Amino acid sequence: MDAMNPLLDFTDLPRFDAVRPAHVAPAIRQLLEDYRALVARLQGPDTPASWAGFMQPLTDAGERLGRAWGVVSHLHAVMDVPEWREAYNSMLPEVTGFYADLGQNLALFAKVKELRESPEYATLTATRRRIVDNDLRDFRLSGAELPEERKPRFKEIQEELSALAAKFSENLLDATNAHAEWIDDESRLAGLPADVRAAARTAAEKDGKPGWKLTLQAPCYIPVMQYAEDRDLRARMYRAYTTRAAEFGEPEWDNGPLIGRLLKLRAEEAELLGYGNYAEVSLVAKMAESTSQVAGFLRELAAKARPFAEKDVAELREFAKAELGMASLESWDLAWAAEKLKEARYAFSDEEVKQYFPEPKVMAGLFRVVEALFSVRIEADTAPVWHPDARLFRILRDGKLVGRFFVDLYARDTKRGGAWMQDAIGRRQTDAGIQTPVAYLCCNFPAPVDDGGKRRPATFSHNDVLTLFHETGHGLHHLLTEVDDLPLSGIDGVEWDAVELPSQFMENFCFEWDVLSGMTAHAETGEPLPRELFDKMIAAKNFQSGMQTLRQIEFSLFDLLLHSEFDPAGTRTVQQLIAEVRQEVAVVFPPEWNRFAQSFSHIFGGGYAAGYYSYKWAEVLSADAYAAFEEAGRVCGSTLDAETGERFWREILAVGGSRPAMESFKAFRGREPRVDALLRHNGMIDA
Ligand code: ZN
Repeated sequence: MDAMNPLLDFTDLPRFDAVRPAHVAPAIRQLLEDYRALVARLQGPDTPASWAGFMQPLTDAGERLGRAWGVVSHLHAVMDVPEWREAYNSMLPEVTGFYADLGQNLALFAKVKELRESPEYATLTATRRRIVDNDLRDFRLSGAELPEERKPRFKEIQEELSALAAKFSENLLDATNAHAEWIDDESRLAGLPADVRAAARTAAEKDGKPGWKLTLQAPCYIPVMQYAEDRDLRARMYRAYTTRAAEFGEPEWDNGPLIGRLLKLRAEEAELLGYGNYAEVSLVAKMAESTSQVAGFLRELAAKARPFAEKDVAELREFAKAELGMASLESWDLAWAAEKLKEARYAFSDEEVKQYFPEPKVMAGLFRVVEALFSVRIEADTAPVWHPDARLFRILRDGKLVGRFFVDLYARDTKRGGAWMQDAIGRRQTDAGIQTPVAYLCCNFPAPVDDGGKRRPATFSHNDVLTLFHETGHGLHHLLTEVDDLPLSGIDGVEWDAVELPSQFMENFCFEWDVLSGMTAHAETGEPLPRELFDKMIAAKNFQSGMQTLRQIEFSLFDLLLHSEFDPAGTRTVQQLIAEVRQEVAVVFPPEWNRFAQSFSHIFGGGYAAGYYSYKWAEVLSADAYAAFEEAGRVCGSTLDAETGERFWREILAVGGSRPAMESFKAFRGREPRVDALLRHNGMIDA
């Protein structure tokens, strides 16, 4: 080990050539110790409640721990070998425990409050005032301002809520895993893709049994519902799936009572904090201003999508009757019939599309979009990396460094699944000047293949390309920030329901003919994507978008009403509420015994309570923002309009969390967001 622990070297990029698992514990312990000592000093009476003497040193200590731990968690995600897993897991409890204590530290809270009330507050920049206000808000939401005698009860509620959420997920997982459909006659698997059959066969073998084992896990359940010809099989699987963790199964896995308890505790928490209901608590730190604004938004979108959803259902029923000989469609027929209709209408394979997207073309196309929109240059850079496939790029504007990003595209055994953007270094003003930001973009795309000693470039599916643009959008949000203070620079401090704006915004370019055709070249022939294939891709994208929109609204409205107007102590049941919501917005109705709520883990097991609407909300924002580029494109001939791009940078990306997202949106668009662009992008336009 060298004299200096490389995890404690903060001069520039992480030192991936030097850092080893053995560095983790000593470095992180050291940083935690320093941080604790600093906090102890800062909360003392000798420390003035000033920016320079209090907030700044606190932020600096937070940055060192955040950066070092960021390197460790990044390596854990992209190099999940036993040594790194062990190094990460051994320090994880201490790090999370430390942050939890920090959020509850009342002496720090008192000091922040003192700063808020001091004459200095008015002299701070708007960004710094917002940092102070956000801090106070977060302390308050964790119960810091409650009268002493109520604090123990608040803590009790928090603990029971997290235990209940964990139990909810465990019950769901256990109930999911407990059910299997055993198949001994292969003809019952008709229609199922070969890989699903093979997995079912392997699952049976693992249990030492003959035949095939079909499970309720997504990689099996979803293809069964889409492709299995055996209607009875679909019906059985559907029933098992939609009654998981409900009163019909094992009593110890029944999530029904847990839901009641969760709702009561959330309502009590809201009351303690002085809010009318839990949805109000959830919205405090979000872009949406009130529950009535969210409800109004969902209902407006529902009303506009409804005619298209009704058309979708009518078409499906007609097709099922005429082509599939089915007089009626049950819930377990919908996905299957939709798949048949989609095949009949827009037959093309993902494999066919994939041949047109070789990696070098795609990357060049992506960079061209970013360069054209924001008048920057992207160049290859060099630095130590964690794997030979990882690369570094730098973004320059007028010859000056704006930011750098690592790209690690290919799937590996040791890499976490999915795709993500993580920040490595945040932009800030230091004594030495501006510290420029650095990000990681990680994906799980197919790697290049060795073809008789020659490395053939990887080819990506259209979905992969969308993912790449999406994560680049998050990356740009982090890299193009112009905020000088760390807590609000990049995506930090951006409201939760607005954070997907830049990412989903970038996806739009992948459906733009001139952009997309420019980044394609057939792997064998070099031909660009044919227009006819592109048109089919667009049509397939919008297939049943009316129905899908209403389904998302059904979930969102149910979640919102459950946490606002529903009375957990009243006589109306959760099941009744969801039935009412369906009466209001749905176009297809599941059987009475369907127990959707019992598996709605986003809101009962995860962090989405009174926040599920965020998916649609952010989609509306990104579509409406993109519409500004379409409008410019009608004048100048391309959506890659530098002037609109400059405005998007200035009003949305550059300011990040330093002002409310609604203000940023209005500054960019000149008005509040409208749902029209999303409807149009989804093909929901009146003919
Ligand atoms: Zn995202």
